[in-house]
Amino acid sequence: MREFTYVGHPTRVVFGTRTLNRLRDEVELLGRSRALILGTATRTELTARARDVLGPLAAAEFAGVVPHTPVEVTEAASEVLREAGADCLVAVGGSSATGLSKALALRTGLPQVVVPTTYAGSEATPVLGQTRDGVKTTLRDPRLRPQSVVYDVDLTLSLPVAFSVTSGVNALAHAVEALYAPQTDPVTDRLATGAVALLASALPRIAADPGDREARADALQAAWLAGTCLGTVGMGLHHKLCHTLGGTFGLEHAATHTVILPHAMAYNAAAAPEAMAAVARALGGAPDAATGVHDLIRSLGGPLSLRELGMAEEDLARAAELATAEPYPNPRPTTRDEISALLHDAWAGRRPA
Ligand code: NAD
Repeated sequence: MREFTYVGHPTRVVFGTRTLNRLRDEVELLGRSRALILGTATRTELTARARDVLGPLAAAEFAGVVPHTPVEVTEAASEVLREAGADCLVAVGGSSATGLSKALALRTGLPQVVVPTTYAGSEATPVLGQTRDGVKTTLRDPRLRPQSVVYDVDLTLSLPVAFSVTSGVNALAHAVEALYAPQTDPVTDRLATGAVALLASALPRIAADPGDREARADALQAAWLAGTCLGTVGMGLHHKLCHTLGGTFGLEHAATHTVILPHAMAYNAAAAPEAMAAVARALGGAPDAATGVHDLIRSLGGPLSLRELGMAEEDLARAAELATAEPYPNPRPTTRDEISALLHDAWAGRRPA
């Protein structure tokens, strides 16, 4: 018998198509009337749509979202927030937009409405990664959780196939590592296997037809389920490696997850047989979970090697050292030499044994 502790999450979730139109209702439900809209300079049409829906509740916009939540950007957005007298935050975009919203919420206590447009899942977690002077640190705080999340499937139709694949595997990674997390529970297990099954079914359909709304809905729902796993239990080796490769070596977040996941799974396989069996079943009966994920990524045209992401081979030793400098929960203990071997396999894009 497994013993566990489970804490439910109070976030309100609206899911559907054209749900962006419900943004104003969500802000009104919070009893707020002066929203600061956060978005990316490259996607101004999206922030404009949010502004139109919010009407008089749109107090100001900040379109300077960039990855990894640099504190200088948060400070610039704080200035806009103060000048506008905003009383709530509305983030539209990928998890980088959500990151800025969380950073502002932590500093001001303002409530957040988040409209996610990728599968990274930050909206479902009480976690924030921030960068200062090029160093990324992560913190966990219940105040980081958005009060409301509006999933609009239509907004994901514009995600290019290549990014849909890597962002989808980012979600897959949350689910896989949740299944072997030390503090996992039956709710998280079911969310995780549900997410794996939805992604295994949705990603090939999206690759074949990026405008397939049902496939997009499945992937976005999986992103929510997997993000909820990430927000509930601790992650292991895979996330540690991706954090190191993204934070210190500047590799793109979602692509890094895609390359590393099969290798981290193969590394942990013998130490987490039940989790791997659950993943293999959820993948639709793959003979082996790690090679099943590798083959899925290959069939979708996703990146398989750190080399193609621009990682220099001579940096692998340093990455192995950083990723093993401090102990963290993982089914199989990690040593620098073993992680170095894993990274060499990932660099070359080998199919895990
Ligand atoms: P992102 O938010 O950086 O977006 C990537 C690019 O895709 C951007 O140029 C963005 O404008 C574009 N984009 C987003 N949605 C689009 C759409 N629907 N159509 C077309 N283009 C679109 O990428 P991401 O992977 O969502 O987020 C990565 C960041 O989030 C990293 O900094 C990562 O560390 C963080 N993250 C944090 C958590 C957490 O729990 N704290 C979880 C996952 C990711």
